[in-house]
Amino acid sequence: MRQIALPDGSRSGRLTRLADALRATWRLAFDVALPPLCPACRDPVGEPRGLCPACWSKLSFIAPPYCERLGIPFVYDPGPGILSMQAIADPPAYGRARAAVRYDEVARTLVHALKYSDRLDLAPILGRWMAEAGRALLADADALVPVPLHWRRLWARRFNQSAALAGVIAAISGVAVAPGALKRVRATPQQVGLSKSARAVNVQGAFRVPDAVKAEVTGRRLVLVDDVLTSGATLDACARALLRAGAARVDVLVFARVVDAARATI
Ligand SMILES: [Zn+2]
Repeated sequence: MRQIALPDGSRSGRLTRLADALRATWRLAFDVALPPLCPACRDPVGEPRGLCPACWSKLSFIAPPYCERLGIPFVYDPGPGILSMQAIADPPAYGRARAAVRYDEVARTLVHALKYSDRLDLAPILGRWMAEAGRALLADADALVPVPLHWRRLWARRFNQSAALAGVIAAISGVAVAPGALKRVRATPQQVGLSKSARAVNVQGAFRVPDAVKAEVTGRRLVLVDDVLTSGATLDACARALLRAGAARVDVLVFARVVDAARATI
């Protein structure tokens, strides 16, 4: 406890200052002694902001060869620019999609920690991997558009994880964020547990480009940013809204995407 009433030179005052200094030293030693924890399993790790070797080895980064359109990895390399059957049979509203990792157990833990456990310190790690995965998309993009939350969910969660990721990607790539370009005009029930067609119906008309920001969208090449791509219904609805408002192109960049066990077929 600091005894501010005592004159500086008094014995008690000196003792108090000594105690403060000792406490500060102790705190510093304690901080240094506490190793950083793996964001996925909470085991101590050597490197701050890194995953432990076990979680790192379980994380499945997506790398070429993949479908030029959907970014789904191919089992073998069919050559450049080849589209998957999925992209031809059921093309999305957005142009290209890229994801840093497959949505598996470790990826799910990271996303849930970011989203529901206030682990905003994870955004720089995930955002860095996303910037790497989306390098081709970002190279000629005009702006990043984070998938918006409905204001009620934003209020409950206090932050939008997609906006946090977009902020990190913007800092790395130099592509600016257009945070108000898209608005969620209708609260939608969680997509978890819904079929693909039910998900599409669920988000239909949920997003709109406000008239006041149309100029930020018209004629521009945009990259939608979200944490996870599951069926793609939410991102498709967002892309439709942006294209309706005159966007020149809409690509998609997510941290993790669901990849069927069968992978993309050619
Ligand atoms: Zn771990």
